[in-house]
Amino acid sequence: MTLRFNTRAIHAGQEPDPITGAVIPPIYQTSTFAQDGIGQLRSGYEYSRSANPSRTALQENLAALEGGTHGFSFASGLAAEDTLVRALLRPGDRLLVSSDAYGGTHRLFGQVHTEWGLEVVPTDFADVDALRDSLAQSPAAMIWVETPTNPLMSVVDIAAVATVAREHGAFLVVDNTFASPYLQQPLSLGADAVVHSTTKYIGGHSDVVGGAIVLDDDEAAQKIAYLQNAAGAVSGPFDAWLTLRGIKTLGVRMDRHSSNAAQIAEYLVSHPAVERVYYPGLPDHPGHEIAAKQMKSFGGMLSVALRGGAAAALKLAESTELFTLAESLGGVESLIGYPTEMTHAALKGTPMEVPDNIIRISVGIEDVEDLQEDLGKALAN
Ligand SMILES: *Cc1c(COP(=O)(O)O)cnc(C)c1O
Repeated sequence: MTLRFNTRAIHAGQEPDPITGAVIPPIYQTSTFAQDGIGQLRSGYEYSRSANPSRTALQENLAALEGGTHGFSFASGLAAEDTLVRALLRPGDRLLVSSDAYGGTHRLFGQVHTEWGLEVVPTDFADVDALRDSLAQSPAAMIWVETPTNPLMSVVDIAAVATVAREHGAFLVVDNTFASPYLQQPLSLGADAVVHSTTKYIGGHSDVVGGAIVLDDDEAAQKIAYLQNAAGAVSGPFDAWLTLRGIKTLGVRMDRHSSNAAQIAEYLVSHPAVERVYYPGLPDHPGHEIAAKQMKSFGGMLSVALRGGAAAALKLAESTELFTLAESLGGVESLIGYPTEMTHAALKGTPMEVPDNIIRISVGIEDVEDLQEDLGKALAN
């Protein structure tokens, strides 16, 4: 039986405990496992860096969510990214990365992995023909796409990039953090691997930091499994359990995040203080058609440019009551942030700098009327 998304989210990797019948697999808060003799493990578990049943349950679930065969869970999204890159690439390799990818991704590749000998090239994947030309001139071992991106919500055509990547033998990774596997399934669109910051929508409650890799390729999976154990940036049992607890409601949360964000976007578009709203669900968004093709709905993230410039943006960010001023996104509670000084501060003075009249909003699953009222009051201030 091929199970549908919400059924998989609740059941994959979630067999009741064989000994007690506990419906929820327990938190195996242990570093090591008793052996019945040298080399005689009871059920394959030896030491929790190598494997732990709570992490196994999460990894099986993550694989099922993305429709892949291998899932790996890590201590953070960046730990997952680091493991993926160092498992599959070698010094001297060329890596193309979305020029507006998450700032931490740019810092990891640009500051840490270049020291290690990787050639990192920020790339705009909107122009697929330019990508084809560039690959024809200098091949790349890996292409790293993020879609939608932070904070301007630009959208990349995953299937189109996958075709070009395949023509040129590049391994295509999609950072699916903003969409979540409920809204977008990159493996089915031709990506070779998916990464997540499970800190965001997958965990969904702003109470745990984690990361994931999902893929089908057995050989690549073996290399990742090796480095996951050899470098050891794994998620602990309690973090794995908390993440799984969040996943059970991923589908219902994403439906609500999307419908709330769509309504907030509509509201802001017609507000006199607003210059522009960046939300892929709006018909005038440059990525709207592609997003409509590859996403189930448009998600819970949006950004707003204010007519009143930086002063108005700062004022809005600091005067909401329900929207908490904080980094991060994807939790049930609404958050508001000022990218130029917060998430994207490292990009100031570079071509990737975020305009200073932009506010980023992670729309939560509260009652949307309350959220709208809160924004309305803050904008009237
Ligand atoms: C947060 C984030 C990351 C990094 O994940 P951490 O869990 O913070 O290490 C990577 N990509 C995107 C798109 C993110 O939003």
